Amino acid sequence: MGYLLNKEGMNQLLASLRDEYVVYAPKCFVGGGRFSETDCIRYGEIQSIEEVVFDKKSDYSFKEVLTPISQTLFYFTEDSVKEADAPKKGAIVFLRSCDLHGLRRLDDMYLRNGQPDYYYKRLRDRVHFVLMGCDHSFKNCFCVDMGTNISDNYDLSVDVQGDLYALDNKWDQLETLLEDLAVATQEIVPAHVKDNEVHVHIPENLDERIAKSSLWREYDSRCINCGRCNFVCPTCTCWSMQDLFYSENGKAGERRRVLASCMVDGFTDVAGGGSYRKKNGDRMRFKVMHKVYDYKKREDYHMCVGCGRCDDICPEYISFSNIINKLEDGMKEVTGND
Ligand code: SF4
Ligand code: SF4
Repeated sequence: MGYLLNKEGMNQLLASLRDEYVVYAPKCFVGGGRFSETDCIRYGEIQSIEEVVFDKKSDYSFKEVLTPISQTLFYFTEDSVKEADAPKKGAIVFLRSCDLHGLRRLDDMYLRNGQPDYYYKRLRDRVHFVLMGCDHSFKNCFCVDMGTNISDNYDLSVDVQGDLYALDNKWDQLETLLEDLAVATQEIVPAHVKDNEVHVHIPENLDERIAKSSLWREYDSRCINCGRCNFVCPTCTCWSMQDLFYSENGKAGERRRVLASCMVDGFTDVAGGGSYRKKNGDRMRFKVMHKVYDYKKREDYHMCVGCGRCDDICPEYISFSNIINKLEDGMKEVTGND
């Protein structure tokens, strides 16, 4: 059912949800940008609807709510181990259509890829999602070509319509509250973009032979393996383990898992001093092929959701969509057009 709420109504809705949930949304961190005197839009806890940034794309994705950058798994002492407590409250996350599609990829990786990940599941089981409609495409987005511009598996949707908020509700628990708070009811269809400025084409004949293309060599020098592209990506799920010792004897401390990146030094290091992908261009090939080739062979849809955040954040202005569009020529190069 669709409802129109004014600002006061929205804030009353959030206030009642905050009894049971922490509400996360993209918000502006003034002065928190990568360059001096620039701001950063990233996820944080909100108290009121005025804090939500509706008119810009968030620099970072929602994934940190479910897969924190650093997450303590358990504490250990000499003779005992204690599991880290789960958050006391559930969570509500405001996010866009591409990110909601990203959630499906996270769920597939953490819940349906063999034994469910315990720490992911205990957070995931208590999260609800609020879709933020996109009334226009942002810079570097290519969601339409990736088929992620429309979503319907939300609990609630919200579109800003002048001074009002248009909500489509699928969450039974909220129905009575929304009836009380609404200034009007009407059918609501969340806004979605129908075209982007950026288009991508993934060649039908793409396969492993692309590894021999010269296209990757450009990134040996251009990419500085900072890993930013992985950390902003809503679908990158790699992590590493760290033990933090509280004392010098090394018998008391905590184990954490921290987000990792296939683009940075050390990710493919193995015993004996070996490393599978030393060149930055080879790391790029691995990342690109995972996002638009091999994941699809298993799951039947691409991993990349076309959010364009990797393009937005790269300090070397490397464009992921440009790389996708180079794959056709790359295949021609390695197949000699067959
Ligand atoms: S953000 Fe750019 S420079 Fe940094 S690792 Fe990714 S592609 Fe390379
Ligand atoms: S690879 Fe880039 S465009 Fe694709 S989902 Fe990740 S951040 Fe978004």
